[in-house]
Amino acid sequence: MTSSCGGYACLEGVYKEYSSRVGASIALDNVSVVFQTGLYMVVGPNGSGKSTLLRVIAGVTRPDRGRVIVDGRELWVDCSGDCLALLRRRVVGYVPQTLLLPAAMRVMDAIALPLLLDGVGDWADRVEEVAGLLGVERFLGKRVRELSVGQRQLVAIARALVINPKILLLDEPLSHLDKDAMETVLDVITGFGKEKLVIIADTEKVKGVDFDGVYCMAKGRLKQCN
Ligand code: ADP
Ligand code: MG
Repeated sequence: MTSSCGGYACLEGVYKEYSSRVGASIALDNVSVVFQTGLYMVVGPNGSGKSTLLRVIAGVTRPDRGRVIVDGRELWVDCSGDCLALLRRRVVGYVPQTLLLPAAMRVMDAIALPLLLDGVGDWADRVEEVAGLLGVERFLGKRVRELSVGQRQLVAIARALVINPKILLLDEPLSHLDKDAMETVLDVITGFGKEKLVIIADTEKVKGVDFDGVYCMAKGRLKQCN
């Protein structure tokens, strides 16, 4: 039954481990959590499982055990294959820690990509709108490779926002940004978190933001820490 999830995203007993030559590492250790709409922060040291948590919610990584319910459907059970692809394209805006923007692509197309993949014809205005929000409109005609890492980070956030997602997942989104860009991003996502679900993962709690919940991760375990 998926109705037991009273939020935008719920995890129940989620477990994920990676095995390698040097042994197994537990990335998520029996994580159960309900995310309502709002702005949440997940804080933890490197290797604590933050990126794995976001990938699991984004439907990119399948856990070994447990249930992941996103937007009313249990991923990998009620929603797999095309449904997962559509979820990732229309419902979840995910900015991975390692940005995957094709270097030769025009910035405009890189931001529009989820809309292009979805066959949305009328995308130019929407792209300009999100580019304006994030202050990257002057880069729209450039190639991704011509941008700095921080500028690419803004473009990746614009791409996540272009679909007007219900759920926005940001993995260390501020790591390459200057102070002004950081403030811009935090303003945009604070506004967004009023109606949607936003989860930011980082190694330190982001200052100056009024979060609806702050979770701490350590060794794959997630706990509320405020
Ligand atoms: P964080 O984002 O908090 O740094 P991660 O979720 O990236 O943590 O990693 C959690 C644990 O899982 C770490 O021990 C990491 O080495 C391991 N891990 C993550 N992704 C992989 C992978 N693709 N292959 C093998 N081990 C991985
Ligand atoms: Mg990480």
